[in-house]
Amino acid sequence: MDSQRVSVREPMHKHTTFRIGGPVDVFLQPADAGELQKIMEICHQEQVPWSIMGNGSNLLVSDEGFRGVVIQIYRNMAQIATEGCRITAQAGASLISLSKRAMEASLSGLAFASGIPGTLGGAVAMNAGAYGGEMKDVLEEVRVLDRFGQLLTLRADQLEMDYRTSVIKEKGHIVLEAVLKLQPGDRDAIRETMQDLAQKRAGKQPLEYPSAGSTFKRPKGHFAGKLIMDAGLRGYRVGDAQVSEKHCGFVVNCGHATAADVAAVMRHVQEEVWDRFQVRLEPEVRFLGDFTGVY
Ligand SMILES: Cc1cc2nc3c(=O)[nH]c(=O)nc-3n(C[C@H](O)[C@H](O)[C@H](O)COP(=O)(O)OP(=O)(O)OC[C@H]3O[C@@H](n4cnc5c(N)ncnc54)[C@H](O)[C@@H]3O)c2cc1C
Repeated sequence: MDSQRVSVREPMHKHTTFRIGGPVDVFLQPADAGELQKIMEICHQEQVPWSIMGNGSNLLVSDEGFRGVVIQIYRNMAQIATEGCRITAQAGASLISLSKRAMEASLSGLAFASGIPGTLGGAVAMNAGAYGGEMKDVLEEVRVLDRFGQLLTLRADQLEMDYRTSVIKEKGHIVLEAVLKLQPGDRDAIRETMQDLAQKRAGKQPLEYPSAGSTFKRPKGHFAGKLIMDAGLRGYRVGDAQVSEKHCGFVVNCGHATAADVAAVMRHVQEEVWDRFQVRLEPEVRFLGDFTGVY
């Protein structure tokens, strides 16, 4: 593997939208499925823990980092091809470029994803969604590697995609490529929808601060942000981690927040919301590293 794509003691705050996270032992950015299979084979032989990430836009990495290998599927595996109403893309393609490509090809159905700062792989694993759309509406099939390095092609209906979850997340498959099926549409109308959604996002979300998006999943019958606000926690702060003043569903990094600060805010929010409303808030953010004693 090219040495530029291998780093040792790599600080994860450089690779997460939260701008938080200590060093990972080995950080690898494979260029294709073959390299990825080789990495998994070595990790398996040497019994080294490993984890997959995309753009780190839904990740909270511990201040101590991660003892093992982090494999990032991102810009080196980001090809996009359009044919008719289908877009085939590698897992590292960003949702932002994918939705732009769909718009340029006059294909509708992906505008909802135009402001989500993740990769296709992360979005399929999480069944990312916004403004009434979600990945499961547009996904036709995926090519994945299972935890043993076997290549599988799975149809969308085999993925049990549900609110922010899928078989991929549950079984720990690695997404390599996905085929999206879209609908013919009008390019200007799609562009307008995307601009409209971008404005809505900028108006409501604290995009001026580093974060990992919505901190908690939406509990059935409620909105996490509203519960947090109604519990009087707007602006609640530990160190530099704060419940956003603009949107209580976000915990933001106001400067030099640590993962422990964020975890403390999350824990307090969960306890208060439970005490006030008996509603359990489940993290949407994924944790990487050791959070024992912190969360
Ligand atoms: C400002 C902001 C706004 C956001 N808005 C939204 C929103 O509207 N809707 C929404 O759903 N999310 C939103 N998010 C969260 C996030 O962008 C999505 O969850 C996104 O899909 C994560 O993609 P990622 O590549 O960054 O994944 P990462 O954060 O790197 O990883 C997230 C999870 O996906 C797994 N994963 C990553 N790549 C792969 C792969 N190739 N194969 C298998 N598993 C993989 C990781 O192991 C991890 O469990 C927002 C985040 C931010 C910072």
